[in-house]
This record gives sequence, structure tokens and C-alpha cells, in this order.
Amino acid sequence: MSQKNLSYASEQPDTPWQTYLAQVERVIPLLGELGTLAETLRRPKRALIVDIPIQMDDGSYRHFEGFRVQHSLARGPGKGGVRFHPNVNLEEVMALAAWMTIKNAAVNLPFGGAKGGVRVDPRSLSRRELEKLTRRYTSEIGLIIGPQQDIPAPDVNTDAQIMAWMMDTYSMNSGSAATGVVTGKPIDLGGSLGRVKATGRGLFLTGCDAARRLRLPIPGARLVLQGFGNVGGTAAELFASAGAKVIAVEDDSGAVHNSNGLDIGALQKYRAANGSIRGYAGAEPISTDNFWQLDSEILVLAALEGQLTPARAQALKTRLVLEGANGPTLPAADDILAQRDILVVPDVICNAGGVIVSYFEWVQDFSSYFWSEDEINRRLEQIHVEAFARIWEAAERHGVTLRTAAFLVACERILTARKERGLYP
Ligand code: NAD
Repeated sequence: MSQKNLSYASEQPDTPWQTYLAQVERVIPLLGELGTLAETLRRPKRALIVDIPIQMDDGSYRHFEGFRVQHSLARGPGKGGVRFHPNVNLEEVMALAAWMTIKNAAVNLPFGGAKGGVRVDPRSLSRRELEKLTRRYTSEIGLIIGPQQDIPAPDVNTDAQIMAWMMDTYSMNSGSAATGVVTGKPIDLGGSLGRVKATGRGLFLTGCDAARRLRLPIPGARLVLQGFGNVGGTAAELFASAGAKVIAVEDDSGAVHNSNGLDIGALQKYRAANGSIRGYAGAEPISTDNFWQLDSEILVLAALEGQLTPARAQALKTRLVLEGANGPTLPAADDILAQRDILVVPDVICNAGGVIVSYFEWVQDFSSYFWSEDEINRRLEQIHVEAFARIWEAAERHGVTLRTAAFLVACERILTARKERGLYP
């Protein structure tokens, strides 16, 4: 494969970038003549690595490494979140940017794909240090972001406050209030109603749609959840209020189990007060191995990439896997799930709710006219339902998994745009 002549093309199996490449390879034989343009999918258009020096509260200086990758701008400006995490690296950000290209095209938003990140444990920084880091990072990537160029948003460990600092920094540097440069902002600064819960809500809507097609009733369904942050917490809330029984939750501190169903409101309060779910009295602690072997009807993955390994896929006892996280399932695990007839609703459609409402936020910022939350949730549902139906139909037509079908629908759109635009110069 021509990736071999690229310096960033790691030979390591199972990195997020290798996972993305394996997913793309599966779709190329289905692309017909458009497949001749597929090389563009295997490379990021642009990758920026920045040094972020800041003065710490104790007077010392520290340097952090930051990234912004624009995988494709064929269908519109770049769009994708910013992650603050100690394991962030260029390959991971490349993969996350590429999945954004696919996701935006799969749900037909007029965006390309991008992603950013800083290699840092934000919990080790004071609020003042976090603000300095965010502002310097924004200033450094200011070369390539902008309301018409590339629009960041929150991801793991970044939130509305960080988006506010990014918006302010970019606005100071550009000389005008540029609300459209980031999405996921506070409501007072041009943020959109419904954005905070949009990814979890989209996951719930898509999950209900998939369950209906499997003739799996949500009331009484046992649900196991990995990741209890923004996405997982909202999804748990919505599934529980629709009658599902959330019987186990795992976060980075461990897993808890209650076969009668966890009280999600109480667990959220406990996590807010204690920083994690460890020690929650309304459930029993269980080991990670036992967590992956629980009997359930629905498994929601809302933590990080690479969690569903082949061994875990073999052990799973569930009917439906909903990917809230990006890239949580390794390609070999995907094959096992397909053989075992366990339906996987892939990340690129299942967690698109966040970017869909980010799109609404961006549109509202440009027109300076803001919609009601009902209007936003209605339009979110409409886009999700239409996108899912199209992908379901493609999966049936080609006899492929929903992931390959989502990639197929997306890659056809991306490569058609590429073909129509032609090559410059
Ligand atoms: P978050 O930081 O709010 O929550 C992450 C959760 O995962 C936390 O509960 C954390 O404890 C848990 N976690 C981390 N490592 C874990 C591990 N090894 N085992 C078990 N649990 C672990 O992040 P979020 O915004 O909810 O994002 C979760 C995932 O969803 C990420 O993959 C992110 O890229 C993806 N995503 C988020 C959005 C969004 O709008 N927030 C949109 C699309 C995709």
C-alpha cells in the first residue's frame, strides 16, 4: 500500500490510524470508478504540530505538544473536536480527523474532517494554567482555523469554558468577535441550545432505531455502558427514562453492577461529588473481565478508542453495540461481531449528534438568529433518522456491515466532491 512511503504510517497494528485505514480498505472494492481517487482518503491533507510553552503557577516553564490535523476539506471547512489527554499523539489525531471526514459525509453535513489535541493531563493543571495552555494552543493553530476554514469543538476533557477561551483568543488575534470559530460554546457566547447533550441524544435516537429494526424492545432491555462522561451519561439518562435497565457502568476508575438497574441520577450525583463512580453504594464493584462478559441486550461504548478487542468480542453476550466513542472497536473484533450476528451501529453515525448540533450552532452564529431547543432536537432527529435509513439500505443492498455501509455512503460523497472539484493547479 502506498502508505508505506509516508513517515507517519506506523507499522504498529491496532493504532487508531491503522484501524481507520483497515476500515477504508474494506470499502474501496465497492466504490467502482471512484475508487481510483481513494488515495486521498489514506492521507491527511494537512497536519500541524505546535509547541505550547506556558509559565506554571510556581514560576517554572513547561512545554506541551499540540496538534491540529485537517484530514479532508473536499466537502467544506474542517470540523472536529479538540482533546486534552496525556496519550494524545499525531497518529491518534490523524485517525480522529479522518473519522470526522467520514462522519460529516455519512450524515451529509457540508464539512470536511479535522481534529486537534494537546498531550496533557488537564487534571494536573490549575484553572489558570489550563486557560494559558488553551489560549496559546489556539493562537498557534490560529494559522489554519477560522469560521470558514476549520471549526474546533469540545472532545475528551474539553468543554464550553475551553471553547469560550478559544473563541476569545481567536477573536483578539483577528480583531473581531468571531463566534463561528468554535462550536460547543456557552449559550451567552453564541452557543446552541441542545449542544451539550446532542451526542448522547443522537446515540439514543439511533440506538432506538436500530433496536426497532432488530425487534428489540427498549423497555426492560438490559444495557451495559462503558464511559460515564458527557456522551455515556446522557445516553444512560435517556435509555433509562425510556425504560431500559442500565445494569453496569464502567469508567476509568472501575466498573459497578446492579442487576436490578442502576439509579442513573444518583450515580451522576455521586460522580459529580467524587470525581468517579468508584465506591458508589447503590451497586457492587466488578472486575473489567466480568464487565465484558455480562449478559445484556445493548452495549454502549462511550469511553475511548480500541476498547473492544477480539477477545472481548468473543466473550460479549449482547445483541446490539452502540459506538458513542470514536474507534472503540478493533477491525478484527468487528469481524467476530459480524460472524456472531451482533449488530454494531458504528461511531460515524451513532455519535454524530454532537457534530450535527455543532453544525446548527455554526449556522445560527452566521445568521445571529437562534432557534429553540425543540426546533434543534427536531432537526437533529430528522438528520439522524434519514442518515441511518440510507446507511441501513446500503448495508442490505451490498450485504455488508453498517460500518462498511456508512463508509461507503460517506466515501462516495467525499470522492464525488473531490472529482467534481478537480485537482489544483
Ligand atoms: P468525557 O471525558 O466526558 O467522558 C469519558 C468517559 O470515559 C469518562 O467517564 C471516563 O472515566 C471514561 N473512560 C476513560 N478511559 C476509560 C477506560 N480506559 N475504561 C473505561 N472508561 C474510561 O468524554 P465524552 O465527551 O463523553 O467522550 C467520550 C467518547 O465519545 C470519546 O471517544 C469522544 O471522542 C467521543 N465523542 C464525543 C462527542 C461529544 O460531543 N462529547 C462527540 C462525538 C464523539
